[in-house]
Amino acid sequence: MSALSLSSTAHLMPVTARPDVVFARGEGAWIFDDRGARWLDWVQGWAVNCLGHAPAPVAQAIARQAATLINPSPAFFNPPALELATRLARHGGFEHVFFGSTGAEANEGAIKLARKWGRLHRDGAHEIVTFRDGFHGRTLATMSASGKPGWDTMFAPQVDGFPKARFNDVESVRALVGPRTVAVMLEPVQGEAGVIPAAPGFLRALRALCDAHGLLLILDEVQAGCGRTGTLFAYEQHGVEPDILTLGKGLGGGVPLSALLAKKHCSCFAPGEQGGTFCGNPLACAAGVAVLDTLLADGFLPASRRVAQRLADGLGALSDELGLGEVRAAGWLLALELGADVAPAVVDAARARGLLVNAPRAHCLRLMPALNSTADEVDEGLRRLRGAIADVLGGRAPH
Ligand code: PMP
Repeated sequence: MSALSLSSTAHLMPVTARPDVVFARGEGAWIFDDRGARWLDWVQGWAVNCLGHAPAPVAQAIARQAATLINPSPAFFNPPALELATRLARHGGFEHVFFGSTGAEANEGAIKLARKWGRLHRDGAHEIVTFRDGFHGRTLATMSASGKPGWDTMFAPQVDGFPKARFNDVESVRALVGPRTVAVMLEPVQGEAGVIPAAPGFLRALRALCDAHGLLLILDEVQAGCGRTGTLFAYEQHGVEPDILTLGKGLGGGVPLSALLAKKHCSCFAPGEQGGTFCGNPLACAAGVAVLDTLLADGFLPASRRVAQRLADGLGALSDELGLGEVRAAGWLLALELGADVAPAVVDAARARGLLVNAPRAHCLRLMPALNSTADEVDEGLRRLRGAIADVLGGRAPH
């Protein structure tokens, strides 16, 4: 059998519509196909590769760790897991960290922890107020916690106990709080909904509501965390602290790694209640340590924020010039409203011009570049994006 027939696309379960391209290599902001053509990548593994493709610190850490110890099992300590847990716990003032591989797994853990806490301290309260258009993962419980339209019936019946409030509407949350409520869970920036940031004061109002009713505040920073919105944790910009925080995506710099962080007062799992074969494996945690050390190195995040602002400004100018809609930006998580349901067509046109972007909704684009993108890369991407939008909307293509 030839190498070609061995790499047929026919045997991957078609769970998503994939374009006819096979990506073989990546380098920083750029990704290359198996024939050497290259694209500027503003998807970056779905907001995963916070340091771009194949970043040296992560590649070296994985290589070192792979040659040292890959997995002693989660029933034993290992140095990278200890180092990473210590760094994360210290930065956010959390007592305990549990590592998983995916965002959904971290969120499942958060849901279980809140239910356990409710059993211990709130007379069995177990409902978690979640939000319309929110996204927390693809397991049954995290799909039930999500407010993505259509997900309530897709694999019905859902897991019970996730009433839905309206994002940025604290009264809609208050109206759902009752004796069975144990927590409020949300993304500080709704990513999959099209980059909808929490309005100023919203998280603070939720914190006050939770404090008044003895509820836990759970923040899902799987997409917004790890420097993506300009600070290591997005909540740092809102003057609040959650009781429970989840991280994923950027944490491993491309390697599957997620984390559930809990304050002391609610870290109540007893041995045997939470776990998983790959949890806290040293290979993934070594990548996490390399990512955190890079993100928290002196000057990295301030410099990164400046380049992200250049992209937000450039999108604003593009929107003005081409008569498009709103630009929403939270650091390196950005959306551009196109004013019509042409986003999938723009994604295709951009790909034809050597740029990868994503359309979380039919009317809006989402951009998730690497946090170490350069000003030149931003300018190049904006040029390509302008051309793609003009291609679709029939405007004049740039030179
Ligand atoms: N929470 C949020 C906010 C997300 O954006 C995502 C993924 N898009 C998830 C959870 C699920 O993460 P994963 O796909 O790694 O399970």
